Amino acid sequence: MTMLDADQASTLDLDRQVFHSWSAQGTPTAFAVERASGCDVWDEDGTHYLDFSSQLVNTNIGHTHPRVVEAIQRQAAVLPTVAPSTANRTRGLAAERVLAVAGEPFSKVFFTNGGADANENAIRLARLTTGRTKVLSTYRSYHGNTGAAIAATGDWRRVPNEYASGHVHFFGPFAYRSEFWSDSAKQESERALQHLERVVQAEGPASIAALLLETVPGTAGVLVPPPGYLAGVRAICDRWGILLILDEVMSGFGRTGDWFAFQNEQINPTGVVPDLVTFAKGVNSGYVPAGGVLIPPAIAGEFDTRVFPGGLTYSGHPLAMAAIVATIDAMQDEGIVENAAHIGRDVLGPALHALAERHPVIGEVRGLGVFWALDLVTDRATRQPVPVADIVALKSRLLASGLLPFSADNRIHVVPPCIVTEQQVAHAIDLYDAALP
Ligand code: PLP
Repeated sequence: MTMLDADQASTLDLDRQVFHSWSAQGTPTAFAVERASGCDVWDEDGTHYLDFSSQLVNTNIGHTHPRVVEAIQRQAAVLPTVAPSTANRTRGLAAERVLAVAGEPFSKVFFTNGGADANENAIRLARLTTGRTKVLSTYRSYHGNTGAAIAATGDWRRVPNEYASGHVHFFGPFAYRSEFWSDSAKQESERALQHLERVVQAEGPASIAALLLETVPGTAGVLVPPPGYLAGVRAICDRWGILLILDEVMSGFGRTGDWFAFQNEQINPTGVVPDLVTFAKGVNSGYVPAGGVLIPPAIAGEFDTRVFPGGLTYSGHPLAMAAIVATIDAMQDEGIVENAAHIGRDVLGPALHALAERHPVIGEVRGLGVFWALDLVTDRATRQPVPVADIVALKSRLLASGLLPFSADNRIHVVPPCIVTEQQVAHAIDLYDAALP
């Protein structure tokens, strides 16, 4: 093995020592980001990019927000880390801020390092509370990348968590690519609910602890649920004593134009309340990794005298907590969630629909707030997804023109920070317009 001379090596040379997420390691990383501010990113050559990816849809407050940076620096000088079992004022304030924006009935927060472990712990809470094992979730979803560590554990902590199986999948609603042959959003909702009810019955309702749903499936394509779906899911859960966990890791903290997607009128007009909510990403825009589970008294109370068999060395890490407090305060003071709603409703949504009129390759535009997907097709009649090579080429054109894009399968996701301005949207639309076939 040849060691690199760190003083001589370029960033991309040094990067070859990094084992990357979700990648074939032989494919070199082509992009070295040096610095960023707001919606702007610069590479090492000083080339500017408009960030319409929010990285992995997490920098909701934008890059290097001064109040968040300063809060992390202040905390680092006083107490950069602390055991999770101690009381810490910054952690308590972070819980208070998160609960304040979540509203009733949530009364406690379990802090994690990110979204996957938030879902792990929400599932654990549901299983322990109900005494059941199965968890139902949709095929079109992403909930994180953990699962084996507790099963591998040798001590007592494994025993209450030994659920090697118990995950069952079903199809959620997606009218544009319906699994149910439906021809309207209403029909899609009714048929998806009927399918879910049948899956619940076939699996044995008394064995199902929880239904885990992304309120708006994100990476799967920004699949805004049709009217009535969430209320129907709640009714099925209530009928069978199943807990409803909403994964708001991507959809939370402003992305949909509300603090949480389940608070959005369009998504949840009847105000259905979940039993548990998971969050991460936008809670502090990822300046320091953090996530968590919102817990209501009915579930938290289960563990007043009974030990909760779950925990993390960095649960409630002071730097992450300081970043949460500053992020939520700044988002409130600067009307950032309101900006996301305004941009989606009045600027970005209409502009993307107009873009679709000019580019037949856009089969469907869907989304809300600063959470949009362009579903690209070879033919609008058949809705055949464009091949991956077309998306790779499109991404290269966008990057070359100065826009940092987000793509998944046959889609471009238009997901800028919640602070994006009308001028930045107009500029980005020009770049998409020029790059799209
Ligand atoms: N849940 C959803 C909806 C996500 O989008 C993600 C990540 O993209 C996760 C969970 C996992 O979060 P993390 O990568 O922080 O573990």
